[in-house]
Amino acid sequence: MDFVELIAEVSEPSPPKEAALELLQRSREPALALQLFAAASRIRDESIGKTLWWSAGISSMMPCHVEPLCTYCTYFTAKSFPLDELVASVKAIDELGIRHLHLSGGTDFAGYDNEMSDAVHAIREVSKIDIEINLGPSFTRNGVRRLKQLGVSSITSSLETFNPQVFAKAKPGDSLEKRKALIETCQDEGMPVRSMILVGLGESEADRIDHLYWLMQFPHLYHLRFSRFMPYAGTDWENHPRCSPWEVARLVAVARLLMPHVDLGLAAGNSADDIPLWYAAGGGNQLLGASVSMRQGKSRKTQPGETLIPVTDRVALVSRMEHIEQFVRGLGRQIAAAVPHSY
Ligand code: SF4
Repeated sequence: MDFVELIAEVSEPSPPKEAALELLQRSREPALALQLFAAASRIRDESIGKTLWWSAGISSMMPCHVEPLCTYCTYFTAKSFPLDELVASVKAIDELGIRHLHLSGGTDFAGYDNEMSDAVHAIREVSKIDIEINLGPSFTRNGVRRLKQLGVSSITSSLETFNPQVFAKAKPGDSLEKRKALIETCQDEGMPVRSMILVGLGESEADRIDHLYWLMQFPHLYHLRFSRFMPYAGTDWENHPRCSPWEVARLVAVARLLMPHVDLGLAAGNSADDIPLWYAAGGGNQLLGASVSMRQGKSRKTQPGETLIPVTDRVALVSRMEHIEQFVRGLGRQIAAAVPHSY
């Protein structure tokens, strides 16, 4: 089939999975990828608009209790983020003009219902910021209900990879089924859902398409983020290949055709340097402008484009807003402080 016709077929509602896979595979050829990216960008502009917007992240919120820990991970923590330092961090994010925040990490199958309800209560004392929560499959149905009643904007359940063998190798103490079940629970409870794909763990292109098709069944899925595998020294995966940005960009473009109204973001393993290709491939529209972690104290060395803002004796906020704004201006686009109404 002609490539333009294939793009048109996959852009129709409920396209055959085989067509989406063929589109992804044939887009390895750069000249064809450019056609796909143009279609995906047009769909993005028409579906969710041309204005990008800020979010911020606070990570390492809770101890990770999966046993054994994921074999690629270096960012788990053994301690909870103290509430007073959490509140101070949220105030610092507010002062940057960011109106949207996600709290993330780690996982406990026994549940973090109470801990995260307490965290949301504490934040609500000082801020109206929109809150998203990502602590893996750490919430019961009642926990989802409580967080919804507290006005939490969404819960994230990242499947990371849809291939059960790859999942078992990368996350031997974790549960793909529990992660899927949390998305199903959120859908039942009318709680908006966010999810993530970790590209480059060794999954096939067919696995990636299966992953997208499984997620497409959930009308409450409103944000899907794409991590790009980074091998870290000292992990079992230190010799596994770094994922190419080309793999992520092509998958984002196919995802845009399949789920035009879903925000498609960049997650771990990507940097500001990935923004132009991501955006050209139909990604959008949320940007991570600032982040806080107990693991990035005041002594953390900044990278080019980062500003370190001390929050407490132990915690610092890292802002990348100016740097990212410059990149986005170069794309002829603007970034708004406001969160889109659809959120
Ligand atoms: S569940 Fe998340 S934080 Fe815990 S070990 Fe795995 S990747 Fe790391």
